Amino acid sequence: MLTVLIEMKFAEIAVPVPVRQTYTYEIPPELESTIRPGYRVIVPLGKRKITGYVVSMMIESDRADLKPIYDLLDDSPAVLPDLITLAKWISEYYICPLGEVIKAMLPGGINLESHFRIRLLKNSQEIQKYIAENRVPTQERILNLLVKNQEMTVQVIRKSIRKSGLNFSITRLAAAGLVAREAILSKAETKPKFENWIKLAPAYAENSDVEKIINQLSQTSPAQALCFKIIDEHKEISQRDLLKSGKFSSHAITALAEKGFIEKFPKEVFRSYYSTSAPRPPETFILNEYQKRSIFHVEEAIQNDSFKTFLIHGVTGSGKTQVYIEALKRVLEKGKTGIVLVPEISLTPQTVSRFTANFPNQVAVLHSRMSPGERYDSWRKLKSGNFKIAIGPRSAIFAPLKNIGLIVVDEEHESSYKQLDTPPLYHARDVAVYRGKLNQAVVMLGSATPSLESYFNAKNQKYHLLELPRRIDDIPMPQVTIVDMLQQRKRYPGKNVSIFSKALQDKIIEKLDLNQQIILLQNRRGFSTYIKCKDCGFIEQCENCNITLTYHLTNHTVRCHYCNFTKKAPQVCPQCGGADILFQGIGTQKVEQEINQIFPEARVVRMDLDTTARKFAHDRILGDFGAGKYNILLGTQMVAKGLDFQNVTLVGVISADTSLLFPDFRASERTFQLLTQVAGRAGRKNFVGEVIIQTYSPDNLSLKFAQQHNFKQFFFTELPLRKELNYPPWGRLVHILIKGEDEAKVKAGAENFSQCLKFPAELGKILGPVPAPLSKIKKNYRWQIIIKSNKLIDSSGKILRKYLLEALARYKSQRQLRGIKIIIDIDPISLL
Ligand code: ADP
Ligand code: ZN
Repeated sequence: MLTVLIEMKFAEIAVPVPVRQTYTYEIPPELESTIRPGYRVIVPLGKRKITGYVVSMMIESDRADLKPIYDLLDDSPAVLPDLITLAKWISEYYICPLGEVIKAMLPGGINLESHFRIRLLKNSQEIQKYIAENRVPTQERILNLLVKNQEMTVQVIRKSIRKSGLNFSITRLAAAGLVAREAILSKAETKPKFENWIKLAPAYAENSDVEKIINQLSQTSPAQALCFKIIDEHKEISQRDLLKSGKFSSHAITALAEKGFIEKFPKEVFRSYYSTSAPRPPETFILNEYQKRSIFHVEEAIQNDSFKTFLIHGVTGSGKTQVYIEALKRVLEKGKTGIVLVPEISLTPQTVSRFTANFPNQVAVLHSRMSPGERYDSWRKLKSGNFKIAIGPRSAIFAPLKNIGLIVVDEEHESSYKQLDTPPLYHARDVAVYRGKLNQAVVMLGSATPSLESYFNAKNQKYHLLELPRRIDDIPMPQVTIVDMLQQRKRYPGKNVSIFSKALQDKIIEKLDLNQQIILLQNRRGFSTYIKCKDCGFIEQCENCNITLTYHLTNHTVRCHYCNFTKKAPQVCPQCGGADILFQGIGTQKVEQEINQIFPEARVVRMDLDTTARKFAHDRILGDFGAGKYNILLGTQMVAKGLDFQNVTLVGVISADTSLLFPDFRASERTFQLLTQVAGRAGRKNFVGEVIIQTYSPDNLSLKFAQQHNFKQFFFTELPLRKELNYPPWGRLVHILIKGEDEAKVKAGAENFSQCLKFPAELGKILGPVPAPLSKIKKNYRWQIIIKSNKLIDSSGKILRKYLLEALARYKSQRQLRGIKIIIDIDPISLL
């Protein structure tokens, strides 16, 4: 048989710069046999040399002046083929340069040269021979360094040899068999870690005299007695946990060991990002009727290897996670892999351990709080094929898994699935559906409060609807009471009206007495949301943003929640010098203070951005609350999501109005979701839950539907309102933001772009240009243009994108205004 090897001479390279094109480069002969799509390369671009990604290769090019690729960065393609296809789709759909999309798909740590170790494979005689025969200066310098050191990281080599093309040279040396290039896992991963553990000495381990020993010990040393007792209870315990568990020091342990009662031994600890405890065995359940029915349909699609998107609408506590796990089992049995997307905030040890328990050593967690190195290690575990399940937030949709059989998007309605700051401004749920399609995989979107878009798609047969309408074990849904705060004020007049209504106070006392737990939601952090002079009405604003400053008790400061600007709170009004300053609006700190005053015996823990800034702080708070160290968990929307604590029987919403007042067409949807989700935290097992919602707008329909746990009614009430204004899911939205530090230029730029946008009226409506509701953030003025395009005429958005690209081209062809940026957001989730 004759094999024809076609030599690819040219490569199409995507570069992560804001240009809407790829570039063609020549492939140097040495690289011809190695290079493939997905490799990272270094290419010259103008006067710079930058990293680019090979997206395709060609036999010929009609251009003669092409530059060669300068260096190769990988030993195997960094980007999998399906991800290149996916990147092309994202690039087109979200109007973002392909190179920037691919860059966003790769973990930040991939550029850490400390992760690559170069090891010498030959003796110095052979090396000298090679040097003499080849005489390539860079290679020679690298080899000489290695002869001295035997092995070095690329990073260290680069310190001595400041030359570009270093990686390329190393690749050649590796190809010649002189050196090996090895990826190293970050230290934490490669070295096994041991801890001191303690157990009873064998003579006592199975001895019923333990009681006697404890009695004896307590005569002379109560500390040792207690210590011995705890060790006996645990059989084995780490010294660290032991010291934490009682009021004794390491002396007690040493004394017990010297007396021969106990033994110390080293134990290798299973290290993961989350915990040092060994993975626990999975809980086994008998699936209920609804779970079984869901699995039946999902399994069918899995067995058929066909692309199908399911929307699982399951009330809070209906056992959705177990359905995901069952589906994953089926997929793994088929030798396929799976991705589970979870909102960052729900990616708690509790959630992760449910998956690791079922799939030990197969789950790699990606988390934005991980260091670049840690994330890179997870990424490599997945890419190597040894780990079959990726679990993580938004960006985990780009996990480098081959042969994907299932993609789960839990809490699919969550706005955190949308990327907001850096391009591409993608929505991970929508990308998930597309990646599923590319892989002939099953996609499962799950929520107790699906987004209107997804439920609409399910109603239109685009997605397949599965329902879990009841809680596990038929636990009733919590009983929700709406308290009208205006009535409260009238009934209990007086200046210092409490944040807590009488009803909520009574319930809190009742639950504290029963030793049951309480979750309180106030969706604003800080103490008071603004401070106002009583005399002149002056309200302190941020210097950089058009935003009122929030007063924080900590260090008595006022802070901007958009840019973090912080200063000492004023003692007197900066405008009129008046001394009467009013603290208005309720933040979590104020609620905390009032809890301490009204319920001094309650132990309360606050969870908001301020208390969770440090790594693991979030996990620790939840762990302590779960262990019963606190009666009350108080916080912002962080406390509303996904928590499963069985002892929580009361949920209080301090003010439901904070999210209703937002000037956004999704305000009622958000409110409904937040209230339904937080209510769902109550009474998940054994006890019936109760919920109290305080509000000044008790007749609001979102509140009413949340009270009745009635998603469908909410959906069918909200849908026609959206239709009237052609908002999603009926129409497609595009948000065009024009921003810059010079207000006049921003306005001119916005008007200019608006003129470039020749969008025909029958295709939709254009609003603006107008100043954005958040008209200034971080010193940047903001104007916006909103397009509401008609899906009936342009269902895929193709025509819309054509007009946007034309507008951009027209805008760019004019004389450019300096210092302004135009950001196009397709399917925005916020219009602020
Ligand atoms: P959801 O994600 O729908 O809010 P979860 O999956 O967290 O619900 O399930 C709620 C609780 O019920 C969890 O503690 C879970 O372990 C448990 N659970 C799930 N399925 C079953 C079952 N078939 N039988 C008993 N308990 C179950
Ligand atoms: Zn600010």
